[in-house]
Amino acid sequence: MLHFSTDILVAGVWRPGTGEPVATVDPATGQVLATVVSASAADVAEAAEAAAAAVAEPAWRDLLPHERARLLHRIAELTEEAAGELSAIQTADTGKTLTETRALALSAAGTFRYLAAALETAEDSVTPSRGAYVTVSTHEPIGVVAAINPWNSPIASDAQKIAPALAAGNAVLLKPAGWTPLVSLALGRLITRALEESGLPTALLSVLPGSGRVVGDAVVHHPLVGRIGFTGGTETGRSIAKAAAEKLIPVSLELGGKSPTVVRADADVEQALAGVLFGIFSSSGQSCIAGSRLFVAREIYDSFIGELVSRVEKLRVGPGTDPRTQVGPLVHHRHRDSVAAYVDLARSEGARVLCGGSVPDGKEYAAGAYYLPTVLDGLANTSRTCQEEIFGPVLVALPYDDEDDLVRQANDSVYGLACGIWTRDLRAAARIARRVQAGTVWINTYKQFSAATPFSGWKDSGLGTEKGRDAIRAYQRQKSLYWGTCELPLPWAL
Ligand code: NAD
Repeated sequence: MLHFSTDILVAGVWRPGTGEPVATVDPATGQVLATVVSASAADVAEAAEAAAAAVAEPAWRDLLPHERARLLHRIAELTEEAAGELSAIQTADTGKTLTETRALALSAAGTFRYLAAALETAEDSVTPSRGAYVTVSTHEPIGVVAAINPWNSPIASDAQKIAPALAAGNAVLLKPAGWTPLVSLALGRLITRALEESGLPTALLSVLPGSGRVVGDAVVHHPLVGRIGFTGGTETGRSIAKAAAEKLIPVSLELGGKSPTVVRADADVEQALAGVLFGIFSSSGQSCIAGSRLFVAREIYDSFIGELVSRVEKLRVGPGTDPRTQVGPLVHHRHRDSVAAYVDLARSEGARVLCGGSVPDGKEYAAGAYYLPTVLDGLANTSRTCQEEIFGPVLVALPYDDEDDLVRQANDSVYGLACGIWTRDLRAAARIARRVQAGTVWINTYKQFSAATPFSGWKDSGLGTEKGRDAIRAYQRQKSLYWGTCELPLPWAL
């Protein structure tokens, strides 16, 4: 029997929020899992004030980097030990398969471990003596930082913000998405435990679920919040960037995508088929980096798409708890309806629906938020279906004539998050990778991630970078010290 926390974490104390009660639903069954009483603006203020006090406590402020690293290692250990439970909670809350949610829990642990190591080995710089002085450039924590996340991969997104923020010496206000607070609360329990064991102030982390309109807005605008790390939709990101500009505080944005996957005529077809399927239909397409626009060389277009469609029709749709499932339900019935509306729009734009295009038949699917993996073609890249992020199991296929035509179409998008290239010609891969406007390019692979590799979106897909060893620096401010080394007086004393 899984335990779902209905308390939230405010200023180091687990208690019900003082905002709206929100029922969170298992999208595979439609059953209510738990009712979490959200945070209110008053809870956000309490959390921010306690966080500011916690950051200033000598027990935290005076820790040496390797001592903060010890905390991160402990969080990694607890996360690994609890991976099974964290995975089950996330599958219940998001509908994702257990295989995926287990990988996400372990990836969260890996992020804490990697940043602990990066912290232990980080260096500040000393510039050479100029005769009169030596300068030392140091990095200090910002203070209280906000982490605002979407519902699609909560534990991984949480770790990508909490780990560098704590490594850098800050306190964190985490605002998970309204539909999926449960795994963030479970991770919060583990972090509280690690803080308590280490004798550190528990108010260093608050987990504040609730709506973006109330809780997100209060977090963004709170005067003590000195940095915002945001992952979510482009329009929300834009409004958060405006608020950050008003406050003159740094912000990082990981936003939407409509990523092209390219299959050249010289690709290893078996590899490409598997990669294209995984790239769009894993996580039921609810992934910012989903390879949702497929460009196939015209000379192999019909044969490749024919084979692809026959494999899509064999994908096993079902609950995330069934080990045979490849495509789980969508996160919420409302989101399923939005995906269905996009496929209706595609039809009205003249798309051919090659497979899927509806909810699955069968009473086992009746209560869940399921949608069949869908392949569309016959649309121009300029259509809304090809330009807008659907965030579901919907692939649009387009032929291309030559490399210039491919690059023009691939880049004809407001987004620039990721790209996949399937080819045996590594020079061609390098050429396309250089010309394509995207923060991440996968060549003969897709959706692989390393905590050590920076991740950023170009164009409307984001601003700033997450992951990599520089992630810690993004949560710090630089301070330069000048040490006088010369006995000569300054000019005015002459
Ligand atoms: P969303 O923008 O609606 O919400 C994201 C988070 O912001 C939620 O916690 C929400 O409550 C909060 N929020 C909403 N309005 C707010 C406001 N005015 N002020 C402060 N906070 C506010 O996005 P979503 O629907 O939850 O997630 C899907 C989107 O996330 C997709 O566009 C997807 O591409 C994107 N995403 C991007 C990445 C990436 O790394 N680039 C990763 C995952 C998801």
